[in-house]
Amino acid sequence: MRYYSTNGKVARCSFKEAVLKGLAEDGGLYMPEGLSFFSLPPDFLRDLPLISFTEIAYEIASIFVGEEIPGDTLYSIVKDAISFDAPLKPIAENIFSLELYHGPSLAFKDFGARFMARVMSYFASQNSLELTVLVATSGDTGSAVGHAFLNLPAIRVVLLYPSGKVSHIQEQQLTTLGGNIQALEVLGVFDDCQKLVKQAFLDKELQTRLTLTSANSINIARLIPQIFYYFRAWALLPEKARKLAISVPSGNFGNLTAGLLAKKMGLPVSKFIAATNINRVIPDYLDRGEFVPRPSLPTLSNAMDVGNPSNFARMLDLYSHDVSYMREDIWGGCCSDDETRAIIQQVWRDHAYLLDPHGAVGYLGLKSFLAQKRENWNGIFLATAHPAKFADIVESAAGTKVELPDTLIQSLSKPKQATLIENDYLVFKNLLLSMFAK
Ligand SMILES: *Cc1c(COP(=O)(O)O)cnc(C)c1O
Repeated sequence: MRYYSTNGKVARCSFKEAVLKGLAEDGGLYMPEGLSFFSLPPDFLRDLPLISFTEIAYEIASIFVGEEIPGDTLYSIVKDAISFDAPLKPIAENIFSLELYHGPSLAFKDFGARFMARVMSYFASQNSLELTVLVATSGDTGSAVGHAFLNLPAIRVVLLYPSGKVSHIQEQQLTTLGGNIQALEVLGVFDDCQKLVKQAFLDKELQTRLTLTSANSINIARLIPQIFYYFRAWALLPEKARKLAISVPSGNFGNLTAGLLAKKMGLPVSKFIAATNINRVIPDYLDRGEFVPRPSLPTLSNAMDVGNPSNFARMLDLYSHDVSYMREDIWGGCCSDDETRAIIQQVWRDHAYLLDPHGAVGYLGLKSFLAQKRENWNGIFLATAHPAKFADIVESAAGTKVELPDTLIQSLSKPKQATLIENDYLVFKNLLLSMFAK
């Protein structure tokens, strides 16, 4: 498969190039070319319930990767990356939760990050490169990326996080990995971390001595594995004849875009729900036909606090920049923090099911959509984070204790390993050079 840029000003390229570049040189995002209903084998949907999650993932990945990675290697990559399940749990009549938080960092970003990490490591080894991945994190992305690259060959990772600005759980997840993952605790805020990383990418000397790369959320290799679980969810649905709505709690809209690609490949989804917190740029766009990015506001579902969603360029491209065409497939819904708390409490009371604040936004979006005379539909919402990651909020809203999963308990008991650094570019650069330059 070839990849084009949403800005259309550079030549099409291979999968490998799209993955290693991340962002196209014209500033656009890479998109797969010629994806259609005919991309998958003819009986794929019919046979879907009979095959394993690994096989589903492998079939779909093959389409995007083509001949660029040998089949048996790709199979191992997929099997190793998606080494945990995505169960579909019935919550109420015709309402299901697709739990995407059973990976090592307890959030759905594990799918994208683990697949991308293995693909990058493969291409780096093939080209005898030693890549240095730099990531600035305000908490969650860093732990998904750190876990994803842990102990992979030909790659090392440097995570920068703002000192005192991440939760205790997040800090433990970021700083206890060891191996090829190095955490830098920056005396500054998240924006300072991001500035240091940006400056490093512009630094020619660092670039050539360290082969820097970003593990950016706009990388096409992070979207592809998110397609796998939409097909998996459909395979697990008991009543397939009903119309289906899937609600996606969204921030940068990578997860939703992956769903749209799945639909383009023939997955029978009647409507996607773009569910947001008060950072409602996309629901507003669907309402009014005008895209007005704005500074993000802090909410309980903080991984979705995005004021200028990066994947909007891909959504526009998929719908030929036509909002009425986009409305046929996507419905927008948003909610406040009060509504988020109330729904966590209500779902716990009525269904004995614990939602995290992100999943709660998804659930609420789904309920609002189905409330409009769509009782006979199936509804799936994506549960994107484990409730234990947001234990304080969930426990106070639901009035019950959240059980911590074993992986979390383990990382909480390990000693923190981080290098404390000043918010100063030269200090940062010299540290990188002393750690890694040959
Ligand atoms: C990143 C994230 C989201 C938002 O996903 P996008 O692909 O950016 O829309 C939702 N929930 C959780 C828990 C996340 O970490």
